[in-house]
Amino acid sequence: MRRKILVLGSSNIDLIFRIPRFHNPGETIRAENLVTAFGGKGANQAIAAKRLGGDVVLLTKIGNDHYGRSYRQYLIKNGLDQRWILKDKRLPTGLALIELTPQGENRIIVSPGANGSLSAENLRSFGPSWREIGIFVAQLEIPIETVKKGLRNAKEHGAATLLNPSPPIPLSPDILKMTDFLVPNETEARFLTGMRIRRDEDIRRTAAKLLEMGTKNVVITLGSSGLFFKSPGEEIRMEAFKVDAVDTTAAGDAFMGGLACGLSRGMSVREVLRFASAAGALAATRLGAQPSLPFRRRLIRFLGKKDPNDTNGNE
Ligand code: ADP
Repeated sequence: MRRKILVLGSSNIDLIFRIPRFHNPGETIRAENLVTAFGGKGANQAIAAKRLGGDVVLLTKIGNDHYGRSYRQYLIKNGLDQRWILKDKRLPTGLALIELTPQGENRIIVSPGANGSLSAENLRSFGPSWREIGIFVAQLEIPIETVKKGLRNAKEHGAATLLNPSPPIPLSPDILKMTDFLVPNETEARFLTGMRIRRDEDIRRTAAKLLEMGTKNVVITLGSSGLFFKSPGEEIRMEAFKVDAVDTTAAGDAFMGGLACGLSRGMSVREVLRFASAAGALAATRLGAQPSLPFRRRLIRFLGKKDPNDTNGNE
């Protein structure tokens, strides 16, 4: 079985401003502090899968600026092949300006920059490397045509495809039909189906609708309430691991990394879901996006101590 994972997606620099409150138009306020971090769902998911022991390639695009240069160095240091870290000569690196209040509320402005020019044409350079890919992973922070081309190439080469529809946009049936595992959170599942989710029964119906729309399997992630998996022949409702959550940023990205890594190692669906849930739970116990993504050894130690539906004890 081919074990290599290709993640096609975004790289953003996150500028995280801690502010006392959201300010008014025309007003200037002073931030309590500013943290600059490497982010973007594509890079987050690639690093997540890599730390969990996956053999990962990230195909992404940065800008021709100092952020792009430091992002490239960082990705190389994390063991990602620089051939697929493309550079746009004109556009800046993608940037997310995140305002955080003491109440834990946030406001985010994203400027896609070079992510917006990661084109279907750019996938051509990947050419013969497709033959090594067993698992393909994408999200929606890059142009949808590029995602579609990636899915098509992956299917042509017999790879399993994982799509995290985030941030959500309407998806055409051809995209869903090329998706083996669609992994929305509750909000994204609601957006894609137009269905309300109030009770467990609604989640089952929403998952059924997503299968009807074309995806082969669906995993709806439910934060601290766990997940719901559905395929034509199987349904699994799995509780989340009980942890002291500090910041759930990137829990979904850690989950995607765990899913990709588990599938690439030929685990059963139930084992993969448990592995990915543990990755999501561990990411929730630490601050930030990439700093919180767990390494394999920590996850194995954590799983060794836990039962998947255990409701006692913290990490
Ligand atoms: P997203 O970050 O995309 O909104 P979720 O919040 O649904 O995704 O989280 C993805 C997965 O991470 C969940 O299915 C769960 O397994 C795990 N997870 C997230 N938040 C927590 C939490 N507070 N406690 C335990 N596990 C969590």
